[in-house]
Amino acid sequence: MALTLTPDAIKLQRDVKLGRVLVVEDEELIRETIALALAEEGYEVVTAEDGRKGLNLVCKSAESGYPLDVIPFDLIILDLMLPYVNGLDLCRLVRHEGNSVPILMLSAKGSETDRVVGLEVGADDYLTKPFGMRELVARCRALMRRHRHTQLQTQESTLRFQDIMLYPQECRVTVRNEEINLSPKEFRILELFMSHPRRVWSREQLIERIWGPDFMGDSKTVDVHIRWLREKLESDPSRPEYLLTVRGFGYRFG
Ligand code: CA
Repeated sequence: MALTLTPDAIKLQRDVKLGRVLVVEDEELIRETIALALAEEGYEVVTAEDGRKGLNLVCKSAESGYPLDVIPFDLIILDLMLPYVNGLDLCRLVRHEGNSVPILMLSAKGSETDRVVGLEVGADDYLTKPFGMRELVARCRALMRRHRHTQLQTQESTLRFQDIMLYPQECRVTVRNEEINLSPKEFRILELFMSHPRRVWSREQLIERIWGPDFMGDSKTVDVHIRWLREKLESDPSRPEYLLTVRGFGYRFG
């Protein structure tokens, strides 16, 4: 094995495809044992012995001397009690940055409260010391697999049309990279349109699909919602580029 051991980083050259793991743990023996166990499984491992170094490695604001800091991690193993920045704060800060990397929290304490707090600040799993390396490796593998699966699902289901991105699982829409607020109805109309680009929908069809067959209002409701959507999506709502009127038929997208 081509292992390069430094105080802060253990890098495995053999296979970087399995994943890149950051281990933040102040107890040297535990840190090195975890690093070796994961390296033997084929993971690339980077270690940090306190919370500040860990945070720098994750948040790309590293002090000089960390050449690895620009590559994102696939998993973080995080001890709860750490010098400078503790595990809970580190976890919270990572999530605050919008980073969804899976986090496995470690703790000497096994109380239910620690576990709950850990999960509340955004950890994905929790392991109480002492633990076996086999269990740790199995948990890591499961967390990374689950995360990749979620990422794939999100990628696959994302609807895109030019500058508009719609994320069905997150009920989120961005226009030119800016998040916009849509009502549930507006969201569902846009989702329907984006799932069937260029298809013409009559007002009656839209009512049937979005409001349901029991809807008692009139088809003007559709026009009102289209107008609201245009105001949120179009750069010039009076000259729409996305939500187009098809005279005598209804509306189409794109
Ligand atoms: Ca500790």
